[in-house]
Amino acid sequence: MNKFDAVIAGAGPAGLSTALKLQAAGWRVLVVEKCKVPRDKVCGGFVGPENILFLKELGIYEKLKQRGAEEINNVVLSSSRGKKVRIPISLNGSALPGLALSRKLLDGTLLEAFVARGGSVLDEHALENASREGLFKIRIKNLKTGSEAMVYANQFIRATGLRNSAGIKDEKMFWGISAMFKNVKNMEDHVFLHLIDKGHLGINRFEDNVVNVCYVADGDLVKSFAGDLEGLFDHFKGANPVITEQLESAQRVTTWKGIPVARKIPYEFAKDGAFYAGDTVGVVHPIVGGGISLALSMGYELASLLTAHESESVPHEKVLHAYRKVWHKKYFWRLRASGMMGRLSHCKPAADVILHLMSSRSDLMEAFFKFHHRSLGSVEIADLTVCRR
Ligand SMILES: Cc1cc2nc3c(=O)[nH]c(=O)nc-3n(C[C@H](O)[C@H](O)[C@H](O)COP(=O)(O)OP(=O)(O)OC[C@H]3O[C@@H](n4cnc5c(N)ncnc54)[C@H](O)[C@@H]3O)c2cc1C
Repeated sequence: MNKFDAVIAGAGPAGLSTALKLQAAGWRVLVVEKCKVPRDKVCGGFVGPENILFLKELGIYEKLKQRGAEEINNVVLSSSRGKKVRIPISLNGSALPGLALSRKLLDGTLLEAFVARGGSVLDEHALENASREGLFKIRIKNLKTGSEAMVYANQFIRATGLRNSAGIKDEKMFWGISAMFKNVKNMEDHVFLHLIDKGHLGINRFEDNVVNVCYVADGDLVKSFAGDLEGLFDHFKGANPVITEQLESAQRVTTWKGIPVARKIPYEFAKDGAFYAGDTVGVVHPIVGGGISLALSMGYELASLLTAHESESVPHEKVLHAYRKVWHKKYFWRLRASGMMGRLSHCKPAADVILHLMSSRSDLMEAFFKFHHRSLGSVEIADLTVCRR
């Protein structure tokens, strides 16, 4: 029988940090991923400093750098009036940098670590449904052949990303849209966030000498361009002189890719006995970043709570209660603050005030950065490489 201590649906940062931590405790883990991996995702690709220690402990930080991930020490923000502010990442009180890299590189290297330690992965397989009768009975579909199979597990974790992709509708939707460029100016040691009315545009350097241009636009703005992503991009360029200048001689080298993101989906931690992790619980607005860090850290926390027990005798309600409590303590305000910052920075007058405050009141900036950093907290590192059984 295909029986595991845990089956995890989703090979993103949440699924893989959960998998690595469960695996380190000796659990037999299967990760099921619907896409062929590794693959790219629409994302700014900026990993905040709070997770650098975690990546180091996993033994993949140096590997990521060797493969082209760049350390970043400054964030530059600009408003549609052309005001620019540079914020050193060290303002959060830590000496660690951020990291700029594609999701193909990050998720792929996490997956590689899991497989190298004996983990099982089925990519191009989608979770169809799961039911619990003592054991979880999980139906998965091979997306290449169309055949279906059943796997069994003591625990089941859904880390399948945005819940709106499962059909939940939200009027307050925004879109994330990205493509790779060459010849973008001023990329040394900086990640950029350029604000416009109803959106922002992130510019970040990736491995292989390409630059990721990722814009986030409110749903009504996207609708008004009726699917013309290049036209919408031109609108962004014209709406902020700093973007115009930075992308003056830039050339796009890939097609645009877009995803819809719903903001108003209520937080959910578990359903029908399965735990949720990462974006499946709730979404961080990309304007403040940290979604990847949150996903990594949340997966790690959940796995720590689960591995305090044998996989077959996890007291579901007790672990759920503890998970919810830890989540509220560490992540609730981060998600709330990110939503508020998202709304404010997509509103032109508010964005101008924010940029003004940032440039004139470095003490306020420092306090915000420290809060931002502390509210996430870095994960406490156990030895992830040691098997207890
Ligand atoms: C435009 C945009 C820019 C962003 N920029 C940043 C940034 O710069 N920095 C940052 O920290 N965060 C950023 N984020 C947020 C970040 O991308 C997410 O928070 C992060 O990817 C969440 O990780 P996850 O593992 O929960 O989900 P995901 O990374 O989405 O992984 C979920 C996985 O589950 C798989 N899956 C889905 N359904 C099934 C199924 N039925 N069966 C099997 N597998 C399935 C998917 O294919 C996917 O691989 C950004 C988000 C957006 C929208």
